[in-house]
Amino acid sequence: MSLFYRSTRDDSVKVTASQAILKGLAADGGLYVPEQIPALDKSFEELSKMSYQEVAYEVMKLMLDDFTEEELKNCINKAYDSKFDTKVIAPLVKADGAYYLELFHGSTIAFKDMALSILPHLLITSAKKNNVKNEIVILTATSGDTGKAALAGFADVKGTKIIVFYPKHGVSPIQEKQMVTQKGDNTYVIGINGNFDDAQTGVKKIFGDKELEKVMNEAGYQFSSANSINIGRLVPQIVYYVYAYARLLADGEVKAGEAINVVVPTGNFGNILAAFYAKNMGLPIHKLICASNENKVLYDFFTTGIYDRNREFVLTTSPSMDILISSNLERLIYRIAGNSAEKNASLMQSLKESGKYEITDDMKAQLSDFYGNYATEAEDAAMIKKLYEDTGYVIDTHTAVAASVYEKYQKETGDTTKTVIASTASPYKFTRSVMDAIDNKYDVMSDFELVDELSKLSKVKVPQAIEDIRTAPVLHDTICDVDKMCDNVKRILHI
Ligand SMILES: *Cc1c(COP(=O)(O)O)cnc(C)c1O
Repeated sequence: MSLFYRSTRDDSVKVTASQAILKGLAADGGLYVPEQIPALDKSFEELSKMSYQEVAYEVMKLMLDDFTEEELKNCINKAYDSKFDTKVIAPLVKADGAYYLELFHGSTIAFKDMALSILPHLLITSAKKNNVKNEIVILTATSGDTGKAALAGFADVKGTKIIVFYPKHGVSPIQEKQMVTQKGDNTYVIGINGNFDDAQTGVKKIFGDKELEKVMNEAGYQFSSANSINIGRLVPQIVYYVYAYARLLADGEVKAGEAINVVVPTGNFGNILAAFYAKNMGLPIHKLICASNENKVLYDFFTTGIYDRNREFVLTTSPSMDILISSNLERLIYRIAGNSAEKNASLMQSLKESGKYEITDDMKAQLSDFYGNYATEAEDAAMIKKLYEDTGYVIDTHTAVAASVYEKYQKETGDTTKTVIASTASPYKFTRSVMDAIDNKYDVMSDFELVDELSKLSKVKVPQAIEDIRTAPVLHDTICDVDKMCDNVKRILHI
């Protein structure tokens, strides 16, 4: 074992991968980062003959090097199984000259499944390795997608319970139906009378309650989170970029060593950071193209070197990218600051106090791997329509942000490098926006009528995840006030 993780805000912190997974966030509020990024030790030819699970092992063994081969393979095999509706797990589809990497074949038909299907197994393995005897209780506040993906990931995983709070009147009907029909004896879903911020604040308060922590510990429980900053979510996301490259090579689309571009529809900066790590592991990536929607903080950051969250929050049709603080960007900032916890911590302090910070020219010069741009709502819809009309391929609203930014990039640069676009959600997850983009005549139809219509038009079978919720019984109907959240947690845990 030789790879340790450091905190982005305190140089004295040094933990193993499994400890970083267990803790999630460092005590100083920093994010865990690997001391160095290990190089892939298999050739692209070798990787091109491997299954998704095999590539996952080759990548993850390097980043999580305190896991034994048996532990890691066990986690991988439990995660990437028949929960995915295709054996290849993440298929590549060529349309209009680009390669769409479909990351939505898991149980909730969005890319969060790629990491949340393995995180529970990494977490309980980490607990065992560190002699944690307590049962892990995952506590999450959700505005929709993460909650369902976490529920699906943790359902019936021994040694864990998961409690999800969502704003009763702040999620879409499909999202609510997905959550309240969740099976699994260890799953709990509670609607709160409040908005997402209330849910988030309530959860943070429960996490910070020292008295509760003591009582929990005595009863044999401890909290953990399934937050997107956990390296147990970041590392599994590196895998599919390596896998995509291996597939392109196997299919004769690229020669070994030939560079590709990667386009990522970005919110919290986790997915694109994983691509950046893949590049640093030796994957030949030319440009990392960061695509934003109208909440274009990242585009502004890449063009000016100033990160500024002081702006109006725009509600778009790509809600999973409606984010003004991209938490995972901190890992990149730390790195371009020369792995300086001190410099990074001072920028993060400034973000906290004034909502903005500016990086130095020196730091900016190290961002040349990245290209940032954004798509407006109109451009997003036009892209869905155009791609469908030209090729018959239907993409969701998030993926369309990426496709639209890629088009701008090509116009600006003339770059003809082969390009992989991360396709982060099934169009069935955002059926109404997708169908509206294609033709406004669909306006009058109900949600499930639209689903059937989309199936006809795209010639893609309705995913099981959608079929399931048509008829699934409601299994969770608890509603509570914000000030009763903690009482509900105690009731569930009988403490
Ligand atoms: C979470 C999410 C994103 C954004 O990914 P980040 O890792 O937060 O940048 C994009 N698209 C979809 C569908 C998502 O669920």
